Amino acid sequence: APQDTDIAGPAPRRPTVGVMVGDVQVGGGAPIVVQSMTNTDTADIDATVRQVAALAHAGSELVRITVDRDEAAAAVPRIRDRLARIGVTVPLVGDFHYIGHKLLADHPACAEALAKYRINPGNVGFRDKRDRQFGAIIEMAMRFDKPVRIGANWGSLDQELLTALMDENAVSATPRDARAITREAMIQSALRSAERAEEMGLGRDRIILSAKVSAVQDLIAVYRELSRRADYAIHLGLTEAGMGSKGIVASSAAIGILLQEGIGDTIRFSLTPEPGGDRTVEVRTAQELLQTMGFRTFVPLVAACPGCGRTTSTVFQELARDIQDWIVTSMPLWKQRYPGVENLNVAVMGCIVNGPGESKHADIGISLPGTGESPAAPVFIDGAKATTLRGPGIAADFRVMVEDYIEQ
Ligand code: SF4
Repeated sequence: APQDTDIAGPAPRRPTVGVMVGDVQVGGGAPIVVQSMTNTDTADIDATVRQVAALAHAGSELVRITVDRDEAAAAVPRIRDRLARIGVTVPLVGDFHYIGHKLLADHPACAEALAKYRINPGNVGFRDKRDRQFGAIIEMAMRFDKPVRIGANWGSLDQELLTALMDENAVSATPRDARAITREAMIQSALRSAERAEEMGLGRDRIILSAKVSAVQDLIAVYRELSRRADYAIHLGLTEAGMGSKGIVASSAAIGILLQEGIGDTIRFSLTPEPGGDRTVEVRTAQELLQTMGFRTFVPLVAACPGCGRTTSTVFQELARDIQDWIVTSMPLWKQRYPGVENLNVAVMGCIVNGPGESKHADIGISLPGTGESPAAPVFIDGAKATTLRGPGIAADFRVMVEDYIEQ
């Protein structure tokens, strides 16, 4: 009988109802979709077109844009047209808060140009007004045959619902802590809104849910429960993840654990860029998470050891970085010429300790000589030693070998 250690891999994906966002399927067994969001003023058409195009070229399969006022709503169809003219067809998602019902009603061309509307049930209004305004957005979605994402957020939670749950808890025989109640409010906010939308006639295949929190353990708990209670397609993301490595680590931990449990149909990394920084980092990071976990492939992976006291020269680090950069910049061309190239695994290793072993596991790998080793770099192809490179041209020679391998 198989032992636990024989079983590797994620849990089966939780079944969800598939939702078409433009021509991209989310859920229903489709590959996990990578999405991102612009940080330009949508009314600035040039800047938004540039950023959407950059995100799409980086591999974002959906791009969300803020629609916060009339000027932004009026810009949306023009952005869609400009993108089409440069061959960018990525579906655009409109992010609405507070006055989405009004903007969609006043700008039908915007409602038509968008492929999905994001609604935050925590800020569509209070009491009767909330029902009316939420209902108005759902009616627009039905009229224009668009899906919606009902996205609850820890930072803008439905306060009436939260207060009601807090009151119920106060008289409960087994009181729950405030954090658990807040998590429950997030889940209920998303689910009740989705049920309301369905009652109005929006199909379940037009609804995606999210419930974003900024703390990793809370996020995991919320999504586990959300996924247990309903089969709506699920958008995963850690909100306000933060800057630099903190945002990447926290998002990867939270999203990675949920994906491993089979939860999640589309992901977004909400990373705070450096001022003027590259927005596409969030796309590449999301792709890298999916690829390193074995869900999808986007670019060839380069395995490299961290280096240590046995690699006192910089040849090893330079080669690893060179190969990585070269692969990333060559990908657009390679993808056209060599279908499947994204499945390639390359290893660049620093010495004889793990070098040959790791290189044998890659499609093509090189083990550079560590300090004190003879100046020879064996290259392994498909698990067998192919040749040994020597001399100052090792890096260039290895690149040629990688390119030959890809061609063949
Ligand atoms: Fe150090 Fe060699 Fe291990 Fe790389 S493979 S970390 S150089 S011992």
